[in-house]
Amino acid sequence: MTEIAIRVTEATVRYGDVTALDGFSVDVPVGGLVALVGPSGCGKTTALRAIAGFENLDAGSITIRDAVVSGATVHVPPEQRKVGMVFQEFALFPHISVAENVGYGVSGADRIHRVGDALRTVDLEDLADRYPHELSGGEQQRVAIARALAPSPDVILLDEPFSNLDAPQRDKMRRELRHIVRRTGVTAVFVTHDQAEALAIADFIAVMRDGSVKQAGPPDEVYARPASPWVATFLGDAMLFDGVVSDGHVTTDIGVVKTELADGSKAQVMVRPEWVMPSTSGTAQCTVTDREFYGHDQLLEITLPTGGVVESLISGRHPVRLGDKVDIDITDAIVFEAV
Ligand code: ADP
Ligand code: MG
Repeated sequence: MTEIAIRVTEATVRYGDVTALDGFSVDVPVGGLVALVGPSGCGKTTALRAIAGFENLDAGSITIRDAVVSGATVHVPPEQRKVGMVFQEFALFPHISVAENVGYGVSGADRIHRVGDALRTVDLEDLADRYPHELSGGEQQRVAIARALAPSPDVILLDEPFSNLDAPQRDKMRRELRHIVRRTGVTAVFVTHDQAEALAIADFIAVMRDGSVKQAGPPDEVYARPASPWVATFLGDAMLFDGVVSDGHVTTDIGVVKTELADGSKAQVMVRPEWVMPSTSGTAQCTVTDREFYGHDQLLEITLPTGGVVESLISGRHPVRLGDKVDIDITDAIVFEAV
């Protein structure tokens, strides 16, 4: 069984009339790299601040390594939680060096060693004597991560850690964060509104909306088996087709799909573009009515005999062309009960 580093159970945080967290629950495994992902305003920052101890809970509880740190009668202060936090607007102290920034929260005889270790972890030993204004955005970000790591926390929390970086720096930092987590064994929770980033980096994602987690799991599972049309659409391109269940099947514009829903229920069948494969035959009924070529792959718009359209994402090397007559093969589909 996986050991749990952080367990948040039904946490509620209110700011006046606003309920920022509303029954938020998540389990973070030891050594995991977990992404909290959701649209702006869904409570991601509040969730991190609650775990770090900067917010009191109105209900629910938080345990770190089996010790209750937030609960009905408990509130362990942030400095006693062994949690490092990299804030969204991480501010380095401008008038002290990189090494002094990293050592800011560290005391004790081994301070110099800890600062050195943290700088080595983020590959910044050579820049220890520089000042923040002498660093690139990516280097500043690494200093902020080193500062969170220097006190040897059990857990680091990062709030939108890549949002201030340009695309190439962001790709590099994502890779670095994964390496840091593997090298140090620290447990990391990071927050992002960018679903592609969450899918790419994390080994576990929790999809948030309106203050609670709607679905959690490994990225590939949540992507392939979304629990609702909302999660499906938030995490990627999703097309929904309506139908009614009859004899254990739902019939839609894109074909017939098996389902366990009761006969007579209204259903929505969700497919992703890469689950739609065109094939050519003499009797094909559908038409390729638009095509965007991306090199590695291509996106087709396929018009169905009913007049509906479906998108298909296939290899750029597939020989299909605009105007071709095709059949479609649906390789995977999710059936939701329509509400
Ligand atoms: P996210 O990080 O997902 O964008 P936040 O956790 O920052 O979301 O905010 C969740 C909700 O709580 C939002 O509606 C936000 O406006 C509100 N909120 C956050 N902080 C405060 C605060 N200090 N006072 C009042 N409302 C707040
Ligand atoms: Mg935020």
